[in-house]
Amino acid sequence: MTDYLLRILTENGGMRATIAQTGGLTAEVAGRHRASPLATAALGYGVTGALLLGSLLKAQQRVVLKASGNGPLQKLIAEADSYGHSRAYVGQPQLAAVGPITSEQVAEAIGGDGFLTIVKDLGMEEPHQSTVPLQTGFLDADLTWYMNQSEQTPSVVEIDALVEPGGEVAAAGGLLLQTLPGGTIESLVAISERLDDLPPIGKLLADGQTPEAIAATLFGPMPYSVVEMRPVVFRCGCSAQRTLTALSLLDRDELDELIASGSAEVDCHFCGEHYEFSRTELEGLL
Ligand SMILES: [Zn+2]
Repeated sequence: MTDYLLRILTENGGMRATIAQTGGLTAEVAGRHRASPLATAALGYGVTGALLLGSLLKAQQRVVLKASGNGPLQKLIAEADSYGHSRAYVGQPQLAAVGPITSEQVAEAIGGDGFLTIVKDLGMEEPHQSTVPLQTGFLDADLTWYMNQSEQTPSVVEIDALVEPGGEVAAAGGLLLQTLPGGTIESLVAISERLDDLPPIGKLLADGQTPEAIAATLFGPMPYSVVEMRPVVFRCGCSAQRTLTALSLLDRDELDELIASGSAEVDCHFCGEHYEFSRTELEGLL
């Protein structure tokens, strides 16, 4: 089944929500990194978190989420754009787990001490970046904290990735609830209490519930409309030209060293694509 996200707006305009189903995307990203089951779950948290933030962007905007905690995963970097494209990587893709993969294990792998950085490329000259201390290592709780503290928008984020001990992704997904200007905290609290009464979103999706069904359960009698249904897919924007441009930003000394060595090889962190550049190509950067 194709992954997608739903964007919802309540009819009084006071609240919006995004509900995303990302199991296939998580499996694709994990496959590209030959990730362990634990790293697969972490990648699922990352792409889902990035897509939830990305669902709020306008055309051609992008968001990067970086969790650099003190856990053995070292770091989790995920990106999404306004078109539902996402990519991600972790510092230790082969990180092993003992026993079944739980959200607690993913949080420990990330670590509760460190930083969460959100970079938004809004098409301005400079990207907008904000960094907050990690609170828990649970990416959804930390994103909730970020939205409320840094963006000062009353929000609730829930993310879940169910990965079998053998590495198969049973389900992944997440949701973001947000109060809009004119909305009330009370209605956000009411919906998030309904959310707390439900099983985790991964379990709902694994049981065959769709984002539409989850929206209906959550909002119940509160009138809302689906404003968008957007497919979400893996895409890496790397290319030989972009990689070469990145090399051109190296210091002159480092570039001279590469030229002296006769060639340069670069692997994309996000997708594993391998690029090789000849001496002539490198000399062209001078
Ligand atoms: Zn790439």
